[in-house]
Amino acid sequence: MSTPGAPTAARTPLEVLSRVFGYDAFRGPQQEVVEHVCAGGDALVLMPTGGGKSLCYQVPALVRPGTGVVVSPLIALMQDQVDALRNLGVRAGFLNSTQNPDERRDTERAFLGGELDLLYLAPERLRVPSTLSLLDRGTIALFAIDEAHCVAQWGHDFRPDYLMLSDLHRRWPDVPRIALTATATEHTRTEIAQRLDLTNAKHVVASFDRPNIQYRIAPKNEPRKQLLELIRTEHPGDAGIVYCLSRKSVEQTAEFLAAQGIPALPYHAGLDAGVRARNQSRFLREEGVVMCATIAFGMGIDKPDVRFVAHLDLPKSVEGYYQETGRAGRDGLPSTAWLAYGLADVVQQRKMIDESEGDLAHRRRLAQHLDAMLALCETVECRRTQLLNYFGQRSEACGNCDTCLTPAESWDGTVPAQKVLSTVWRLKHERNQSFGAGQIVDILVGKRTPKVEQSGHDSLSTFGIGTELGEVEWRGVVRQLLARGLLAVGGAYQTLEMTPESSAVLKGDRQVMLRKDPERTRTRRSSRSSAPVADLAPEAQPVFERLRAWRGATAKEQGVPAYVVFHDATLRAVAALAPTSLDQLGTVSGVGENKLTKYGDGVLAAVAGDAG
Ligand code: ADP
Ligand code: ZN
Repeated sequence: MSTPGAPTAARTPLEVLSRVFGYDAFRGPQQEVVEHVCAGGDALVLMPTGGGKSLCYQVPALVRPGTGVVVSPLIALMQDQVDALRNLGVRAGFLNSTQNPDERRDTERAFLGGELDLLYLAPERLRVPSTLSLLDRGTIALFAIDEAHCVAQWGHDFRPDYLMLSDLHRRWPDVPRIALTATATEHTRTEIAQRLDLTNAKHVVASFDRPNIQYRIAPKNEPRKQLLELIRTEHPGDAGIVYCLSRKSVEQTAEFLAAQGIPALPYHAGLDAGVRARNQSRFLREEGVVMCATIAFGMGIDKPDVRFVAHLDLPKSVEGYYQETGRAGRDGLPSTAWLAYGLADVVQQRKMIDESEGDLAHRRRLAQHLDAMLALCETVECRRTQLLNYFGQRSEACGNCDTCLTPAESWDGTVPAQKVLSTVWRLKHERNQSFGAGQIVDILVGKRTPKVEQSGHDSLSTFGIGTELGEVEWRGVVRQLLARGLLAVGGAYQTLEMTPESSAVLKGDRQVMLRKDPERTRTRRSSRSSAPVADLAPEAQPVFERLRAWRGATAKEQGVPAYVVFHDATLRAVAALAPTSLDQLGTVSGVGENKLTKYGDGVLAAVAGDAG
C-alpha cells in the first residue's frame, strides 16, 4: 500500500482542513463537532445530504493518533471513497467482502503498522471475531458510524447488522464514537441514540434546508412523457436519478429514455452484480448519465453534480423522499426534485401496506409514514416549510418550490366529496357491491360504459349527478379523500370503502377543503443554462472548458470519477482566478497540498492554454 505524501505534519483541525482538503473554513456546525471528537467526546450528528458530514470524522481521524474506523454499509462505494481520500494524500483503506485475501492482508498489515489514517469497514465485518481481534491489536483514533439511521427500526432503512454497533463502546470504552445521518425525525434520532448508546453524547443538528433544490410535485398523467419533457426543457445533458417503484418500471423507463436519445441506464437489485457495478460506475464517471433505479440505488452516492432527482412513483415516507431528493445538487448549484403523483399511487401504497407482512404495529408505522408523505403531496402550503417542519425545523415560505412559484388554490369540495361517498355507500347498501375508482367516476359523470350498463349502475340515484367536474377532477377528489383517510381501499380488487370518518362528511358535519391542482408549474429556469459555466466572465469560459477537458483526460488516466480530481466549483474558481503560479493556485478552495503537487503543473498548463 503506497502512502503518497502522508499529511503527518498537520495537527490542528484547521491545519488539516486547509492543508489536506484545501478549504479555509469549517461549514455550519463542523467545527463544533470536530473539536468535540478530537477531544475524545462522542457525538450524534444530523446533517442533510451534502452538508459536509465526512469532514466531521475525517479531520479528527487525521488529528488524533491512530486510525479512524468508519463503519459504512456502502460496500460498492468504498473503493471510490478510498481513491478520493488517497488523492488528497490521506492514507485510507477498506475491508469488505469484495476483496481477495491478499488485498485484505495488505490492508490489515497497514492498519497494524500504524500506516492508515482511515479504515472503512462494512458492518457485517464486525460480526467476524478475527476483525475484532485485528482492531484490538491496532490503535483506533475513533469510530465513525455512517448512515446511522440504519440502526433505527422506525426509520426507512433498517439493517440488522447495525444493531451490533452498540457493542463498540463496551469493547473500546475510551475510543470516541461519532454517528452520522442525513435523515432523522425526532423519533428516529431518539431511537438511534438509544440503540447506539449515545444518549449522553453531544447531539448536533444542522439545518436540514437544501435551498438550491427546487421541490416540485406534479399531478401524474403520463409520467414518462412528463419526465422526458422535464429533461428536455430543463435538464438536457445533465446527470440525474429517476426513481421507480418496481424493477420492471425501472427497465421500461430506462429503455424509453434511451430510445429518445438520452443516455439512461437501469439499476435494481434484480440485475446481475456485474451489470449493477458497471452502470453505477458509468453514472459516476461519465457526464450526463440518467440513472433509472429503485431505491436500492443511491445511498452514499456522493456525485456532486446530480442536477435532478425525479420520482415516478410515490415514496413510502418523507424521510426516504428527503434522502433520495437530497442526492441532487450536493455542489450547491441549482437542482430539481420532481415527483409525479396520482390516484393510483395512493391505491397501490394502501394496498401494499394491507398486504405487508409483519404485525399490526408495523403496518400502523407504515401507514403513518405514508400519511405524512400524502400530506406533503396534498398541501397548498410551501413544500419546504412542510418538509422542514417534518424534521422539527421552522422556515418561511421559500420561493423555490412549486406551491410558492404557482400558488395552489384550495376549494370547498364538501359537496363533491358527499357525492363520491354517497355512491360508495349506495353500492354497498343497496346492491351489496363495491367498485374501484374508475367505476365510481363513470357513475358520477353519467358515462354509460358496458360495465355501468351491465351492472345496472345507471339506475343508481347518483348516476350522472357529477357533471360539474370532469373525470380528471373527480379522480383528484377521490385521491384526496383516500389521502385523508375519508375513503379506504379494500379487498382483492382495490375497491373503495367507507371509513369511520366518512359518515361525518356524508351527514354534513364535516367540511372538506380540497387542493386544486394547478395546470402547470412555472419553473425557475425557462431555458437551459449550462450550470457550471453560466455566470463565469466571458474570458474565463474557454479556460473553464480547457480545465474540464484536462480533468476528463486526467480522471480517465487514473480510472477515477472526474469530481475526484476536482469539483466543478473548484474548476470554476480556478478559471475565474487564472493563476500563473503554484502559490496562487494553492489559494483556491478545494486545492489542498497533495492535489497541488499532483495536479498543479497540469492545471497551470491548461489555464495558460498550452496543455497537450
Ligand atoms: P455529506 O456526507 O454530508 O452528504 P459531504 O461530506 O460529501 O456531505 O460534503 C459535501 C460537499 O461539501 C463535498 O463536496 C465537500 O468537499 C464539501 N465540503 C464539506 N465541508 C466543506 C467546507 N468546510 N468547505 C468547503 N467545502 C466543504
Ligand atoms: Zn416554497
